[in-house]
Amino acid sequence: MDIILLGPPGAGKGTQAQRLVETRGMVQLSTGDMLREAVAKGTPTGLKAKAIMAAGELVSDAIVSALISERLDASSDKGAIFDGFPRTGHQAAALEILLDERGRKLDHVIELVVDEEALVERITGRFTCANCGAGYHDKFKLPKVEGTCDVCGSHDFKRRPDDNEQTVRTRMAEYRAKTAPILPVYEEKGLVRRVDGMGTVDEVAAAIDAILDS
Ligand code: ADP
Ligand code: ADP
Ligand code: ZN
Repeated sequence: MDIILLGPPGAGKGTQAQRLVETRGMVQLSTGDMLREAVAKGTPTGLKAKAIMAAGELVSDAIVSALISERLDASSDKGAIFDGFPRTGHQAAALEILLDERGRKLDHVIELVVDEEALVERITGRFTCANCGAGYHDKFKLPKVEGTCDVCGSHDFKRRPDDNEQTVRTRMAEYRAKTAPILPVYEEKGLVRRVDGMGTVDEVAAAIDAILDS
């Protein structure tokens, strides 16, 4: 089963993808994570992407499509969760070709529907474990033991430099202008499943499970 999680920054894509990895053994393909890794390593891709990401704009279609192409085969048995990709019509077309070449096809495009004003609070409170990448929130998802990662026990956490209010506004504008317009294309193919992303993490998870098990 191959699915896309679609929604604006802070909608909960990464949180739900991490859960599907744990519960179903699916493979999370997050272009944001891949780009941050490239930036951290200082690869040629990372050098190109760094300033664009810091500004909250979109990295080129060619770069992100190449990153997905490199990792796609590793997800062939368990199914992929595309998280933060595709974000433009060109990326959607590239994904279709990549899947087609492998005899794969999308099963669902799950749209997380959220209220934009809530997203600023979600994003400015976001932090992750520096060791294993588990996601947390200052108000909505604190570690069970203060200062200790639930998953790996690390005491080291980090915040993204682009998770500030000003960059978030640019990221939302990019979403509205370039990503939201790909929804009608998937709609026509009968692939879109809407989920209320304003519920708790568990409520959203239950709604996604109902779709995947249907
Ligand atoms: P995305 O990958 O779509 O940008 P994340 O999954 O990283 O979003 O979620 C953004 C922040 O909001 C994180 O700090 C996460 O812990 C928190 N969060 C995710 N889902 C919910 C939810 N349903 N309710 C409240 N907070 C949430
Ligand atoms: P978000 O929490 O906003 O969903 P991501 O981690 O998915 O964030 O992306 C962070 C940044 O990485 C984006 O603002 C953008 O600069 C870049 N990026 C990630 N995925 C893509 C993509 N598919 N196309 C273009 N740029 C991307
Ligand atoms: Zn951890």
